[in-house]
Amino acid sequence: MLKQRPFLIEALTAAGLIAAPFLLPLIGFAPNTANRILVWGLFGLGFDILFGFTGLLSFGQSAFYGTGGFVAAYLLTRAGFPNVMLALVIGMIAAAAVGYLVGLIALRRTGIYFAMITVAIAEVFFFVEFNPLADWTGGENGLPGVPTPSIHLGFTTLHFTTGWSLYPFLAFCYFIGIVLALRIVRSPVGAVFRAIRDNPLRATAVGHNIHSYKLTAFVIAAAYAGFAGGLLGVLQAFMPPDAFTFDTSGQLVMQTAIGGRATLFGPLVGAAVWLSLQDFLQATLGLGAAWKLVLGIVFVLLVCFLRNGIIGGIASLYDLATGKRAAQEPKDVLPATNAPAEQPQPAAEASPARQTDAPSAPATHLEDGTTASPILQARGLTKRYGGLLANSDIDFRVNRGELRGIIGPNGAGKSTFFKMLTCEVPPTSGTIVFEGNDITGMTVTDVCQRGLTKSYQVNQLFAGLTVRENLTIAALSALRGKFRLDLFRRIQNIPGLSERVEQTLELVNLTARPDTPVSELAYGEKRRLEIGLALATAPSLLLLDEPLAGMSPRERVETVKLLKSISQGRTMIIIDHDMDALFELAERVTVLQEGRVLVEGTPQEIKNNTTVQEAYLGGVHGVLAA
Ligand code: ADP
Repeated sequence: MLKQRPFLIEALTAAGLIAAPFLLPLIGFAPNTANRILVWGLFGLGFDILFGFTGLLSFGQSAFYGTGGFVAAYLLTRAGFPNVMLALVIGMIAAAAVGYLVGLIALRRTGIYFAMITVAIAEVFFFVEFNPLADWTGGENGLPGVPTPSIHLGFTTLHFTTGWSLYPFLAFCYFIGIVLALRIVRSPVGAVFRAIRDNPLRATAVGHNIHSYKLTAFVIAAAYAGFAGGLLGVLQAFMPPDAFTFDTSGQLVMQTAIGGRATLFGPLVGAAVWLSLQDFLQATLGLGAAWKLVLGIVFVLLVCFLRNGIIGGIASLYDLATGKRAAQEPKDVLPATNAPAEQPQPAAEASPARQTDAPSAPATHLEDGTTASPILQARGLTKRYGGLLANSDIDFRVNRGELRGIIGPNGAGKSTFFKMLTCEVPPTSGTIVFEGNDITGMTVTDVCQRGLTKSYQVNQLFAGLTVRENLTIAALSALRGKFRLDLFRRIQNIPGLSERVEQTLELVNLTARPDTPVSELAYGEKRRLEIGLALATAPSLLLLDEPLAGMSPRERVETVKLLKSISQGRTMIIIDHDMDALFELAERVTVLQEGRVLVEGTPQEIKNNTTVQEAYLGGVHGVLAA
C-alpha cells in the first residue's frame, strides 16, 4: 500500500497537524500542551533515527538540545539577531557540530559503555552551562526575552505569538522535520542504519563503514535536538537552564519507548501521553509532585505489555486483524523488483574491481592450475593466541576461477585461517596478497570492498529484516562503496540495485520468499541467505565457512547443487566437514592439521593419501578412498 502511495504518510501528517487545533480543544488539550508536544516530537525525530533505527541508546541528547537552544536564544536576546528562523538554524548547526565532536569520542565504544559516555558528556555540558559559560547562558537564570517569529510575506506579516497563534509555526517546523526524517529512513543510509542496529558485525563484513554511518546518525540526532532546543526558547519566551539536565534526556528516552521506537511518530505520541498525563495528574487530580509515581507505574505497565510502544501495539493489532505479520516499521523503504532506475552513476568509493564484478560475472578457467594467475596468496601466515598456535606458517595460493576445498579435524585452524584471509583478525606474522595487493592489516570492510568476503559458519543475518532487505543491504555496499551520504535519495532509484537483489535471490533459490522476515525462515533457507549476503556484495573471491553445517541430508544435497551452480564463473574456497560433498565440489583440496598445511592435491590424491587417512581415521588405510 505504501509503495503505491509514497506520500501517504506525509499527507496524513499534514492533515493531522491542520486538524489538531480544531479537534484537540474538544478533548481538553491546552494550546501550550499541544505546542510542547510538537517540540518534544521534533526533538524525538532525530533521537528515534539514532536509537530506534540505528540502535544507539544515548542518554546525552540534552547536551545538544541545550546547545542549540542557548545558541539561538543568545543570538536573539543578547546579540540583537533579528531573524528567529535564522537563529534557530544557526543553533541547529552549532548543535550538529558539537554532536560531530561528541560522536567522535562516544562512538569509540558500543552498548552500555556508549550510553555511559553520553551520560557523562551531558553532565559536563550541564556544568559548563552553569559555571564557566554563565555569562553567556545566564547560568541558573537562563536567557529571558526570546522573541517569537514573524514572517514577512511582502503584502502582509504573519506574527506567531503564543498558544494557538504559535502552533502553525511549530507545526510547520514539525512537518518539515518528519518529511526529512522519512526521506532519511527510506534512503540507502537509512537501510544501513537498520543493518547496524540488527547486526553491526555483518554490516561491517558486507562492506559498510559503520563508524561513519553511526556518526551520521549521531549528528542527525544532534541537529534535530538543536533545532528543537531553539524552539523551546521561542515557545517559552525564555531559554531555561534545565534544558541541559539529565531529566530532559531521560524523558526523551521514555517518551520514545512509550510511543514506539523506530516509528518516527513514537516520540510525538509518547510526549502526548506524558504531557497530558502530567497535566491531568498534576492539575486535574491535584497530585502535585506525586504525579511522577503514577507516571512511573504507567510507564512500567506500558513497557511490560506493549514492548514496541503504543504505535507498535496498534500496528500489531492491525496486523492481527488483517492477518499480516507484525510490522515494526514502515516497509516501503526497500526497492520493489521493477522500480524505475536512475541513470547509472559511478559509486564514489566503490573499488573498480567490484564495479565490474556483477554476481554472474564470468571468470577465466584455466586448464593448468599451476600456470593460472593467482587471485590470493598467503605467505608464512601464523596466528598465535597466547601460547596456542592456531595457524602456523601457512603458505597458500588460489588461482582465479578455482574452487578450493579446505578440510581438517576440529581445532585444525580452518576458521582462524578464514578470519585472517578476510582480515577479521590480524595475523601474528605473514602476508596476504589479494588481486596483486597486500591486504595484510586492512579492515574487513576494505577487504570486502576489494571483493573478498565470506559466509559465516554461524549465521550472521539481519534478523529483524526480510530476505530482500537483507540482500539489499549487502548489495548496497557493492554499488555505493563503504560510505556515501546519499541521505535524501530514494533507495528504489539506485541503478542496478533491484536487479542485483533479484539475481542473488535466484542464485540462492529464495525467489519464493523475498518478503519473508528472517525469523520465519527454515534453517536451510537461513543458510542459503547467509551465502546470499556474501554473494550480493559481488565478491571476486568468496569464502564459505561450513556452508553445509547443521543441515539435514536432503538440505545438504540441495545446497551442494546450489554451490555447484554458484561456482560457475567464480573463485571460491569452501571449508566443510562433509568430505563427500567437498570432494564432489572442489578441484583441489587443502588439508589442515594442527594449524599447518598437511597436504594439498586433487580430491583423488587426497583420498589416496595415507597421511590424510591417518590424520582422519587413525591409520585405517583405504577407508577414505573407498
Ligand atoms: P577449526 O575451525 O579448524 O575447528 P579454529 O580455527 O576454530 O579451528 O581454532 C583453532 C584453534 O584456535 C583452536 O584450538 C581454538 O580453540 C583456538 N582459537 C580459535 N579462536 C580463538 C580465540 N579467539 N582465542 C583463543 N583461541 C582461539
